[in-house]
Amino acid sequence: MPLEALLQPNAAAMALIGRYDHVTRLPNRLQFIEQFPALLSPRTPQTLMLVTLAEARHYNEMLRALGMAFAEDFVRAGADLLASLLPYETRLFHVSVLSFALVLDVDDTAQIPVIAAVIAAAFAGAIEVEAIPVKTQVGVGLLPLSVHADGTESLRAALVAAQDSRRIEPRLAFYNHQTDAAHLRAFRILADLPGAIATAGQLSLHYQPRIQLASGACHGAEALLRWHHPELGPISPAEFVPLAEQTALIAPLTDWVIDTALRQNRQFLDAGHDLRISINASPVNVAEAGFDDQLLHRCDAAGLAPHHVELEFTEGTLATNSARTIAQLSRLRGAGINVALDDFGSGYSNLSYLARIPADVLKIDQSFVRPLIAPGDNDFLLRHIVSMAQGLGFRVCAEGIETAHAYGVLRELGCEEGQGYHMARPMPAPQFADWLAVRP
Ligand code: C2E
Ligand code: MG
Ligand code: MG
Repeated sequence: MPLEALLQPNAAAMALIGRYDHVTRLPNRLQFIEQFPALLSPRTPQTLMLVTLAEARHYNEMLRALGMAFAEDFVRAGADLLASLLPYETRLFHVSVLSFALVLDVDDTAQIPVIAAVIAAAFAGAIEVEAIPVKTQVGVGLLPLSVHADGTESLRAALVAAQDSRRIEPRLAFYNHQTDAAHLRAFRILADLPGAIATAGQLSLHYQPRIQLASGACHGAEALLRWHHPELGPISPAEFVPLAEQTALIAPLTDWVIDTALRQNRQFLDAGHDLRISINASPVNVAEAGFDDQLLHRCDAAGLAPHHVELEFTEGTLATNSARTIAQLSRLRGAGINVALDDFGSGYSNLSYLARIPADVLKIDQSFVRPLIAPGDNDFLLRHIVSMAQGLGFRVCAEGIETAHAYGVLRELGCEEGQGYHMARPMPAPQFADWLAVRP
């Protein structure tokens, strides 16, 4: 037999492999993408429906507890239930481990949510797998299709809707451009951040003067991170720092901030300004083993004494590996670095912690200060926070002083320091140096 003929059946078999899901034997994502243009019709309104059976975390727990064969039986049982709810001629595709896609041709589009609700309701009870009732966490995502729709992008958008649907009852949601745009932006920010850290010119630090309220003198400033993205423009640290905190990127980002702040503080000192620069650190940074040694080493390498540096951390820090965090903060304090508890009062302030927090300064959150605009405005909480903090031995710094009135009230209360637009906004390093130079 010629070699060609021998290979022929194998070639046909090979063509099938990779086109069907091995668990459910349904056509897979590859086939969905291939057949998608042919599924589209200019005559009937069409909707892509994507059904996911469970969240990945839930599925992983099932894998750990009950094994792979059971998990596969679960997926098969889900596929069978779904197929039993659909009209006979519907093509069902198994597009990822836990997700199934189908295109609905329904003239009356008002019927779409009704059909989706029936499916969501059928999965609301437990499904039986090897005589064990298992709860699904079904999500049904819906995307109206146009004849120009793209298969890959449509699947992604329908999956976004299916994920969104998990937060609502019944578990069905149409694709929402706004929530998707927010996710895409977050993804873009994280994808572009390593480049911003590695290349000069996108990240910078702005400095906001910290003022002694009694004298008006400035002996310090807070370094605040700024990112000018080449296409997205300025991005607030309040947006990108929390995203970086969810990933390993927070380490190189904080490294960049520390190195830049120390270098620039050396330059301020050389220009004759004796300052303490406050650096914001994330909970994950402070909990990292060796953070204390590295910071002290870097101060030394930058030619700065520890008292020229302050570390700001938030209460959340203490929730992350608190024993090590507290030990490292204590060590930094012992070595002469100032430690400040940032945004006090904004989270779930744990007052029993407060007594044993290794900090020198307590920064009162802006939300207590900014409402102080005119005489008569309620300062009850502020008054008591200042007195409690001082009673515990902290120096107090108020954030968000926007008016002369707030400045006056805080000075009367004996609050030692403050920051706010009333005195100065955060400024780039050269402007801050100019600002310092013209102060009496
Ligand atoms: P934060 O550390 O509490 O910084 C104070 C924020 O309040 C800054 O916002 C500052 O510009 C703003 N601010 C100062 N005075 C006033 C005022 O009078 N009125 C009002 N409305 N706002 C005022 P920014 O620079 O947007 O930073 C926001 C947050 O982002 C910071 O809050 C901090 O949590 C975080 N962040 C900034 N830079 C860094 C950084 O280098 N590392 C880390 N981990 N977080 C940072
Ligand atoms: Mg801060
Ligand atoms: Mg703050």
